[in-house]
Amino acid sequence: MILDAFNLQGKVAMVTGCNTGLGQSMALALAEAGCKVVGVNRSSPIETLEKMNAAEHDFLDLRADLVTQDDIPQLIEKTLAHFGQIDILINNAGIIRREDAVDFSEQDWDDVMNVNSKSLFFLSQVVAKQFIKQGKGGKIINIASMLSFQGGIRVPSYTASKSAVMGLTKAMANEWAKYNINVNAIAPGYMATNNTAALQADEARNASILERIPAERWGTPEDIAGPCVFLASEAANYINGYTLAVDGGWLAR
Ligand code: NAP
Repeated sequence: MILDAFNLQGKVAMVTGCNTGLGQSMALALAEAGCKVVGVNRSSPIETLEKMNAAEHDFLDLRADLVTQDDIPQLIEKTLAHFGQIDILINNAGIIRREDAVDFSEQDWDDVMNVNSKSLFFLSQVVAKQFIKQGKGGKIINIASMLSFQGGIRVPSYTASKSAVMGLTKAMANEWAKYNINVNAIAPGYMATNNTAALQADEARNASILERIPAERWGTPEDIAGPCVFLASEAANYINGYTLAVDGGWLAR
């Protein structure tokens, strides 16, 4: 039955930055599809914990600040100690800093590159090592952006970091496909979350963004839940190094 290929029963999925927004939606969707979920957050994911508990999903709540790579080794150690395996990694944690390029600070460059690209790579590295050890393959899904494809305005480190995400997705896929590890990315379009609160609140930017989206609406966190479950499932076994836009048609314009 084709729908069996989408079933994630018994899999263990780690999701970074799942206290809110897109990460929360993907964590809940993976749990609904059958996963035990490891949430990696820098503070307690209160709302996500409530939703996971209400639905009686298996959820391991881990703490890490991904602006450095210091916490990464203990994430995999604690996951294995609790669930004994890992099958899926969703690299979702991300930040954005807005400033004119001529005034952009080194701190805003380093912080964004660290969370969005460097930690994404080194967390993928430890998880891929474990996938190889387990010998059953695995799935890595990176959260990219429209700014993996475009330049953006006043967000140079975000554009650099998300362009790196798309490149790294291909680079990691090329080296790890032979181990049945699928590395792919989802590039969300303009989604209504904390990350885009400033844009939504700016009447002129909001109107110009909406004017360009063929679907004529902002995306919602639920819009990337299905694509995430699909890429995490056996139905995506022959998809490697691809960045899937979930953007209401933004890039098609
Ligand atoms: P969000 O609500 O701001 O969520 C970002 C998540 O990353 C939060 O859980 C946040 O935790 C976490 N995070 C940030 N810095 C961290 C750190 N140093 N260590 C650990 N976790 C950290 O925004 P979102 O829209 O859901 O964003 C999720 C991903 O989608 C990001 O990678 C973002 O770049 C990407 N994206 C979003 C859009 C959009 O339109 N919303 C479009 C394209 C791509 P805290 O709550 O503790 O800060």
